Amino acid sequence: MNNSSQAIIIIGAGASGLMAASLLTNAGKEVIILEARNRIGGRIYTVPGELPSWPWECGAEFVHGSLPETLSLAKKAGLTLESVGGNTLQMQGGKLLSMDHFGAQWQLIEERLRRLKFDTTLADFIRNNFEMEKEQECIKLIQGYAEGYDAADMERASTFALRDEWLNEENGTNFRVQGGYGKLMEFLLDNCSKAGAVIHFEQVVKEIHWNEKKVSVICKNGSQWHGAQAIVAVPLGVLQQQKQKSTISFFPAIPAQIKAIEGLGFGSVVKVIIDFELSFWNLQIQKPGYSEMKQLGFLLSDAPIPTWWTQYPSTPNLLTGWLAGPSAIKWNAIDGALIFEEAIASLALLFQESEDSLREKVRSYKVLNWNDDPYALGAYSYATPGSRQRLSVLNEPVKETLFFAGEHCYDGPYIGTVEAALVSGRRVAERLLMVE
Ligand SMILES: Cc1cc2nc3c(=O)[nH]c(=O)nc-3n(C[C@H](O)[C@H](O)[C@H](O)COP(=O)(O)OP(=O)(O)OC[C@H]3O[C@@H](n4cnc5c(N)ncnc54)[C@H](O)[C@@H]3O)c2cc1C
Repeated sequence: MNNSSQAIIIIGAGASGLMAASLLTNAGKEVIILEARNRIGGRIYTVPGELPSWPWECGAEFVHGSLPETLSLAKKAGLTLESVGGNTLQMQGGKLLSMDHFGAQWQLIEERLRRLKFDTTLADFIRNNFEMEKEQECIKLIQGYAEGYDAADMERASTFALRDEWLNEENGTNFRVQGGYGKLMEFLLDNCSKAGAVIHFEQVVKEIHWNEKKVSVICKNGSQWHGAQAIVAVPLGVLQQQKQKSTISFFPAIPAQIKAIEGLGFGSVVKVIIDFELSFWNLQIQKPGYSEMKQLGFLLSDAPIPTWWTQYPSTPNLLTGWLAGPSAIKWNAIDGALIFEEAIASLALLFQESEDSLREKVRSYKVLNWNDDPYALGAYSYATPGSRQRLSVLNEPVKETLFFAGEHCYDGPYIGTVEAALVSGRRVAERLLMVE
């Protein structure tokens, strides 16, 4: 039993939990962090790659633009961000298309999005505004963005939220954190540990018993932790899937917050990282019309694993495959080796190589099925119609005792990102410091 009547117990050592821990400890608060895994970072998961200088990002990889909280943290941590470059190419039916090919369709989509007066799900927006047969290219384009980028289910996603995101997207550069996103997490942990925070690993929180300014947290292994307040900084998927063993129950129950949680959207994703002996995609430039492959950044396609990217302008022989949204769900509980085979089949289709010749070139690979990860149970959140009201419920502390944090608690333009998690961690810490 671990007693401290004043402690703030933070559940989850991802970006949001660690950010909150760092700010609270530095403001003089006593902080205990309970983490289910044996590592920090959560959905930030940097592992050493074949090249020591080039780690693999198994979770978050990109900084999507000049994001204030992330940039400020990277600066404090003395980390450099590298611009992501290269050409974005589109391949359909085995043919390479220029991105300009979709200009007219995108203009049409924009016009219809701008005309929308009331929020609906994206699926309803399509049903009400597009002719299913004649405008298939537009529909596929919308679907590609919503599912591929936002990991969203069109039957649930808010059109207004996606409209805000898509139409206000600064045409900015994406970045990678040199040495890996994990370095940001190490910096935060170091910072809060020096200020006195204590972290305990392999503590799968099961129950939170609470009354005003008093919490008792019970873990699966029987350990108990006592404090004044708790910050619940676990992924939305964990809170939504009440039948999963990693989920958390509250005593007394908090029905308004659970209802808000259930109404938010949480996507699915499978990420495949393959290290090859050579960058075979560069050889494609010999084919007529394929010169842009020389500087391949992203390849978007209609293959079963549709999105691929290189590490351009850096040169490790790494390809990353990405399947997000409802199509990723069919891979739940499927062996990683089978997903790898699907990845090879997709690459064979895209690069017109035999599967055997591709397999021979593979040095190593990793399949990350985040939907099956018991401490994530999915990818990241997306807005549904009514999300804003739900977030206002979730972001209001329960009797100044229970607080929620995480990327899903964020209501700004960078939904579903590390930036969202860091901002949420900051906001919850600032809110908690207002409690007498
Ligand atoms: C494959 C993938 C790619 C992504 N790519 C990008 C990207 O390129 N750029 C970007 O900005 N964002 C990206 N994201 C999103 C980004 O990773 C997340 O938004 C962010 O890391 C979430 O931080 P968090 O603190 O909210 O949650 P998490 O990082 O998930 O942290 C929550 C913590 O809670 C712990 N936990 C869970 N259950 C329990 C329990 N019962 N008891 C105790 N602890 C528990 C977990 O182990 C975890 O450590 C990606 C996500 C995924 C999955």
